[in-house]
Amino acid sequence: MNPYRAPIPEMQFVMTELAGLERVAALPGFEDATPDTVAVILEEAAKFAAEVLDPLNRVGDREGARLAGDGSVTTPTGFKDAYRQFCELGWNGLAKNPHFGGQGMPQLVAAAVDEMWNATNMAFELCPMLTAGAVEAIERNGSDVIKGRFLPKMVAGEWTGTMNLTEPQAGSDLAAVRTRAVPQGDGSYRLYGNKIFITYGEHDYTDNIIHLVLARTPDAPPGTKGISLFVVPKFLVNEEGSVGARNDVRCVSLEHKLGIHASPTAVLAFGDEGGAVGHLVGEENRGLEYMFVMMNQARFGVGMQGVGIADRAYQLASDYAQERVQGRAVGVAKDAPTGGIVGHPDVRRMLMTMRSCAEAGRALGYVTAAALDHAHHHPDPDTRKRELKFAELMIPIVKGWGTEVAQRVAYLGVQVHGGMGFIEETGAAQYARDARITTIYEGTTGIQANDLVGRKIVRDEGVALTAAIAQVRDTARALADGRDAALAAIGARLRAGADAFEDAGRFVLGNFRQDPRTVLAGAVPLLELAGTVFGGAQLARAAAIAASKLAAGQGDAGFMRAKIATARHFADHVLTLAPGLRDTVVVGGASVLALADEEV
Ligand SMILES: Cc1cc2nc3c(=O)[nH]c(=O)nc-3n(C[C@H](O)[C@H](O)[C@H](O)COP(=O)(O)OP(=O)(O)OC[C@H]3O[C@@H](n4cnc5c(N)ncnc54)[C@H](O)[C@@H]3O)c2cc1C
Repeated sequence: MNPYRAPIPEMQFVMTELAGLERVAALPGFEDATPDTVAVILEEAAKFAAEVLDPLNRVGDREGARLAGDGSVTTPTGFKDAYRQFCELGWNGLAKNPHFGGQGMPQLVAAAVDEMWNATNMAFELCPMLTAGAVEAIERNGSDVIKGRFLPKMVAGEWTGTMNLTEPQAGSDLAAVRTRAVPQGDGSYRLYGNKIFITYGEHDYTDNIIHLVLARTPDAPPGTKGISLFVVPKFLVNEEGSVGARNDVRCVSLEHKLGIHASPTAVLAFGDEGGAVGHLVGEENRGLEYMFVMMNQARFGVGMQGVGIADRAYQLASDYAQERVQGRAVGVAKDAPTGGIVGHPDVRRMLMTMRSCAEAGRALGYVTAAALDHAHHHPDPDTRKRELKFAELMIPIVKGWGTEVAQRVAYLGVQVHGGMGFIEETGAAQYARDARITTIYEGTTGIQANDLVGRKIVRDEGVALTAAIAQVRDTARALADGRDAALAAIGARLRAGADAFEDAGRFVLGNFRQDPRTVLAGAVPLLELAGTVFGGAQLARAAAIAASKLAAGQGDAGFMRAKIATARHFADHVLTLAPGLRDTVVVGGASVLALADEEV
């Protein structure tokens, strides 16, 4: 397998031209994100990803994490050392608050760096990703005492964080959480219950693990309004910050999984020996609300897992297709040297689809990251509000569509390899297996689609959606009205996509309140339509910018031509699906609901 090559020119193009790095760097607090600094960060991250994380990916897959009889967990060979290096080099704190020891880089920069970790070793990246989620939950809602006690070590990576939501009866439906939290009268609580599927719930990277746990207090109202959030450290932390006694939380089992074998997925038992000491985060009964704020971040992070894995699967397939020889491609002169399978039109089709989908996912992800930066740092409150609305609309799409697409890309990667794709040696199969979880955790695709319909479109009465579609229309118009034939073709497809999306959005808004079942039957097709149109719009923007740079003789001409060709491929092979998706959303609900539950 060829080593990972971070697509730095492509990343920089998307960051600068599509996501507006310059405007992000002008926001208060981001003064250090100069083009030079960002270039160095990307180069250094690329080196760490290629030299340290990429070679460990297969090792992690083969060895997996192992549980010993005493409840301790050993990560695969090399992972602990890689984690130590990762923290020593400061990667854990890249985008975290300088007040707690972070470097305060924009989310946009972190998104590109995270893509590299995900491309090379998603199972490794899960640990810093979950820690980041826990840090955010504490930082936003915790008391100053809790922040001071836990955040500096978590930002440095000396302690890691976990998110404990899921229980056997409470997966997508967190209202069903049963873990109990009993107040002790001294401000602390004792927790009792079992959590399942907890990523990095136990490991050997660090001495302490800080679990964020959803639980119910004794008098809590039923349902979602009765859930609170607690910090439950593996080892208790004294007031002055020193580590004390072992807490009553133990790993009782590790799951055997389809992929991400190096990431320990733990069953945790709280309170088997008298109660696990927990500290309340924020106020009682507001845990789910806090978690949802944090979940935006985590869902975005999983979307970036999709981008990383799609790009790596594409690189692998592209390299293989150059080298593997199978007959002469049709139309190639008999006396010309026989090239790789890349010459066969269908192999090219697969590669171009992989490439264009990976690039669309990246562009959507980075543009959303920049919107989050504006939403949190812009001095003008109206701008902050507008950017937040846009980002919130995009997050279920980045997560839901981005990961569905990543899976298709990884599957195509197996197909490009032929029989060798099915054989573990090439690595293509591992990407397909690892990608499989991304559409499930942090809310399945169905849950993302419900979020898009219910919270982001209907509750908002279509305001954010209408504004976003108007932007797509502006892009389409600019391309379709120009004289460049390729751009005009992209613009026409994009306009048809915007029409389809607008029709589907109108159907959702017009029917949700009186017939939510029929509308939700088309929620995932609507999510697919959204990703197709918004992803296509970003590639179309890229094509227009590339064309103007080509005309002005700026930049690498080959790169610019490739941007146009990639956008055209997406327009002709993916955006063409938009009208069909619209029809499914509008008329497809009837067949979904035609049979009784017991007949399906
Ligand atoms: C490897 C791995 C790591 C994980 N890491 C963590 C972690 O660190 N912390 C944590 O708390 N959890 C974690 N999880 C749990 C994960 O978040 C849940 O598995 C996920 O939310 C789905 O819940 P479930 O498995 O109970 O599936 P279910 O909720 O039972 O869903 C089954 C099916 O029903 C559908 N469905 C359910 N409800 C609805 C609805 N309202 N509308 C439409 N469709 C619906 C789903 O889309 C899905 O297709 C992890 C899981 C795995 C496998």
